[in-house]
Amino acid sequence: MAGQPLVITIVGVPNLPNVTEVNIRSIPTTINNASVVAKLRLGTTGLIALDVQIDQGNINLNGKVYQWFQIPLPNGGTGWVRDDLINVVGDGSRFGYGVVPTATVPFFLTRGAPAAAAPVAAAAPVAAVQPVAAVQPVAAVQPVAAVQPVAAVQPVAAAQPVAAVQPVAAVQPVAAVQSVAAVQPVAAVQPMSSEVVMTPVAAAPAPAPVAAPVVQSGPPKVICMMKGGCNVRQAADKNGAVVTRLNYKDTADILDAQQGANNDYFKWLKISVQGQQGWVREDLVRLTGTFGKFGVAAEDLYPNPAQDSWWSRDFDPTGAVSGIPHGGWDHAGNVGVPMMAGPLGGYVTKDMFCQKCGTAGISAVEQAGFAIGDQRLIQDPGWNYGYGHYVIVRYDNNLLPESVKQWLNANNLANAHAFVMYAHLHEIKVKTGQTVTPGQVIGTLGNSGMSQGAHLHLELRFGTNPNAQWPEIKSGLVTPARLFLR
Ligand SMILES: [Zn+2]
Repeated sequence: MAGQPLVITIVGVPNLPNVTEVNIRSIPTTINNASVVAKLRLGTTGLIALDVQIDQGNINLNGKVYQWFQIPLPNGGTGWVRDDLINVVGDGSRFGYGVVPTATVPFFLTRGAPAAAAPVAAAAPVAAVQPVAAVQPVAAVQPVAAVQPVAAVQPVAAAQPVAAVQPVAAVQPVAAVQSVAAVQPVAAVQPMSSEVVMTPVAAAPAPAPVAAPVVQSGPPKVICMMKGGCNVRQAADKNGAVVTRLNYKDTADILDAQQGANNDYFKWLKISVQGQQGWVREDLVRLTGTFGKFGVAAEDLYPNPAQDSWWSRDFDPTGAVSGIPHGGWDHAGNVGVPMMAGPLGGYVTKDMFCQKCGTAGISAVEQAGFAIGDQRLIQDPGWNYGYGHYVIVRYDNNLLPESVKQWLNANNLANAHAFVMYAHLHEIKVKTGQTVTPGQVIGTLGNSGMSQGAHLHLELRFGTNPNAQWPEIKSGLVTPARLFLR
């Protein structure tokens, strides 16, 4: 494969399946809204890399600066595409990647010094360049999956129909990325959608941990995990009329499931509530029983580590959906609620006490006066860069659910291990290097660090090196939905 051209395929943004095309820019960056010279549909392949350059604005995700690939365009020109939106295969030596034997997203590769210019063998066979199916006119609005506008941070009366939701115009996932330097997860406060209702946190009864089920049984049901209740709508559509509501922790039988309408990247579940039928969005509910047949989540996934909690905020690593990058899931709850390890045990790779949070588990926002997103906080190791007290637990590949292993195998991550960060804890109950037993309490839910309202911030990464330290695993971020039920 050495000497072969490095061939690029457009793959888009993971976890936003309804994004159908990506921006090709005039220069290798998105800063100052570098002009978009083309849009290429996902699946466009056979593009030969002409050059690779580091992002001109040093824009990064989780500290890893993007690289940009120069590609030929159907109109005869050239343009630049970012390295997290493509995969590459072939000889990348002259760009510092070495030979890439299987299609890989280059964002996850480390770029070294370029090799001496080896002649590229099949000098860019033009035939290989797919005539790009539907190159959208540049003016086309970047289709972003189901843009759920971020609701006001203030608690909102629960039962508001969301008819008034303004579709957010032209949210560019690509553009949204560059505005945020370090993608530090922000605290739980920012609800994802107008269905989200935040409730002030009360003090702390600490209920006993719930045993962690692995095998689901019983009829398939949803449990509403919204503190203010869940809207049940007439259709699987975020703009659909609200027909009834399900109260927090109330259950309902699942009848059906389907993808949300209007480019919603969530699925919706059809449920029956006291004789009425309607649809509820998947992120607002917890699933129990034999729900696997509905295809919303696999039944063998790990349970929510904070069983006694309520839903707060979804994974949105680039801020493409909500405008605010968020690298994990937030489950809000009372301070002191136990945080459980996975159902098959694991290994603590890091317990990180937050010096400035102290044993009181201080919130930098509520008690030290910082604003969410304050760089003085995000860059301060004393605050653990905003994460507060946290623990990272490794779940070795052999401890992972079968459905997860299948996903890993299909995504060039065969035999990878899961690294899970549990952040903003109140107390840490384990030590680095410790093996934990199934469902063991590893800490308690808290409000430490860049947090406004007690919540668990849950981040998931996969990596093949079991001894990887933070800089190495940092880039393997994926949605917690790959391993956890909500
Ligand atoms: Zn969070």
